[in-house]
Amino acid sequence: MGTSSSHSSPPSMEAAEELRRNRILSSKLYFNVAPSKVAIIYSPSYDIAFLGIEKLHPFDSSKWGRICLFLTNEDVLDKNRIIEPLEASKDDLLVVHPESYLRHLKSSVNVSMIVEVPPVAMLPNCLVQQKVLHPFRMQVGGSILAAKLAKERGWAINVGGGFHHCSAQKGGGFCVYADITLCIQYAFVRLNISRVMIIDLDAHQGNGHEIDFSDDRRVYIMDMYNSQIYPLDYEARRYIDQKIELMVARNQFNPELVVYNAGTDILDGDPLGRLKISPEGVVIRDEKVFKFAKEMNVPIVMLTSAWHNKIIFAAHLYQMEIMMSKSL
Ligand SMILES: [Zn+2]
Repeated sequence: MGTSSSHSSPPSMEAAEELRRNRILSSKLYFNVAPSKVAIIYSPSYDIAFLGIEKLHPFDSSKWGRICLFLTNEDVLDKNRIIEPLEASKDDLLVVHPESYLRHLKSSVNVSMIVEVPPVAMLPNCLVQQKVLHPFRMQVGGSILAAKLAKERGWAINVGGGFHHCSAQKGGGFCVYADITLCIQYAFVRLNISRVMIIDLDAHQGNGHEIDFSDDRRVYIMDMYNSQIYPLDYEARRYIDQKIELMVARNQFNPELVVYNAGTDILDGDPLGRLKISPEGVVIRDEKVFKFAKEMNVPIVMLTSAWHNKIIFAAHLYQMEIMMSKSL
């Protein structure tokens, strides 16, 4: 144990933590946003749509653009008021992902397995970087910025992100980067926050963030999911602090930030979620979570995860904006 100063040994815990801190403090992702912008983050480069690949996965990867197009066409939202994030750089990703994981993504075969689209394996990696990984990294930038904005405004929505199957060490289930873990690690350092609650109401279990925060008591995880479907990660289930009851959570943990993973794959008829919640039920669900944060006066970040229905989403934004702007 006393010989750890040789060249080949890994950096000490303190040195690794210092490096992580410096990476967070020097990141460009936390830029200042003009007050004229609304707390909704989106970029056209979120969309993964080329050569028809987006149609090969039941998860609709070009949905983000259609949601925003709908909102701006219907005059729900002025396009100029939407915030465009910056792409998460390699240094940003290294805050949680090891170098070896980022190297792993230099193989198109590996990426194809994570995004569950086999033809991606045949593409040159430069194309995969540009057409598949760049959109993911833009959404990661959005999730990270959302926490800063939520702290300033009381709430923020990233129309993307919520890659809850990816942990620092391992991607899967269409989740390449651990944006939830990154968002929270940045908030710890940059926002002077030490207690975060994750509310994960996507149909699937959020095994990525569960593994990442398994021994971190600063993070309280509430996860409600269909236990019969992917990812069936029984180890990660041990790290969920509470299953289902939001009302009980209020008395158990006093968060300074809520990260809400709001997948709508719980909708009746969804091919992946296989649950039977009505569109009205989804609206009620999201209202409850926003009210919960508002009543406790805690900033909330909403990540859209698996969004399918743009009409619901538009109705949501109306409600969220009205509700949150009233007194926060
Ligand atoms: Zn899901």
